[in-house]
Amino acid sequence: MFGQLQNKTILVTGGAGFVGSHLCERLLGLGAKVICFDNLSTGRVRNLSFAYDAQNAASTNPNFVFIQGDVNVADDTRQVFLSYPIDYVFHYAAVVGVKRVWEKPFAVFKDIEGFNNILDLSVMRGIKKVVFSSSSEAYGEPVERFEREDGIHNPGSRDAYALTKLVGENLFLGYYEKYKLPATVLRFFNVYGPKQESSAYGFVAGVFIKQVLEGKSPTVFGDGKQTRDFVYVDDNIELAIRALLSDKTNGEVINIGKGKPTAILELAEQIIKISGKDLKPEFLPARPNDIKYRCPDITKMKRLLDQEPQFSLEEGLKRTFDWYKDNYSRSV
Ligand code: UDP
Repeated sequence: MFGQLQNKTILVTGGAGFVGSHLCERLLGLGAKVICFDNLSTGRVRNLSFAYDAQNAASTNPNFVFIQGDVNVADDTRQVFLSYPIDYVFHYAAVVGVKRVWEKPFAVFKDIEGFNNILDLSVMRGIKKVVFSSSSEAYGEPVERFEREDGIHNPGSRDAYALTKLVGENLFLGYYEKYKLPATVLRFFNVYGPKQESSAYGFVAGVFIKQVLEGKSPTVFGDGKQTRDFVYVDDNIELAIRALLSDKTNGEVINIGKGKPTAILELAEQIIKISGKDLKPEFLPARPNDIKYRCPDITKMKRLLDQEPQFSLEEGLKRTFDWYKDNYSRSV
């Protein structure tokens, strides 16, 4: 199936970010030509070391191009679409992290300009397929225990990040309906793995790993019983590429998750165990408005993509832990 990507030109917006950079690397491995487009607001050229020499600002792989630019700026994006014979687009560029959005709630709405740019240019250039990275945040405060794409949504989301994702989702689906642009929306549940930014802005697996590497107790907010569905980055990418290549996914919204909730306290304990250190989690006050329970129903994902995540949490965490151990000083 993935052989179809040989020599295809694929644009990855947000390609220097955590998920985007893993995706670029995997696509190159599949023989594709990759255009990585990123404004480096949270993306990092060091994430591209597999194909780009940051010191000399030059590609080290003839199939890879890095372009620094802003997808929300029409001229920047038009330039990219007019310069390359793009076959496929992964639109992953976005303001990342709910907390970051709360600091400047209106800044995230600029991403709507980006949707406009990507969609209009994709129609104009006859792009074969566009995949949009949405988020589990689109559900708002969960209503169902296993969230279904067509299930009951919490319509009252007051979070600018979630609202922006919902606007994006509807626009991508709208362009499929109106202009027949093949488009798929993926609702990512909590992705983790090497290269993830982990800081005051969140991304708990990396936060705990860093704390443990420093010999500190992982800081569990609240009682630690809140759950998330953790997906190792390689699994997330495999599923996204399948979504790109299947016609069955056109015009569809698909959860990308494992469907296995993990309590945050359990996550902390697993990371301590992997480290082999004698540490105990430290309990801190709960984060205001923290979502207590979040887990996808993955029936639709399995049906349309014919694939499930392969990495156990333990294996994924071990790999992530090893990466932080080797690269920790660079990721701070
Ligand atoms: N969390 C925690 N300690 C930390 C960071 C996060 O207990 O130092 C918890 C947080 O309260 C939330 C979960 O981990 O319940 C996931 O947080 P993250 O920011 O990674 O993602 P999101 O809340 O957006 O799913």
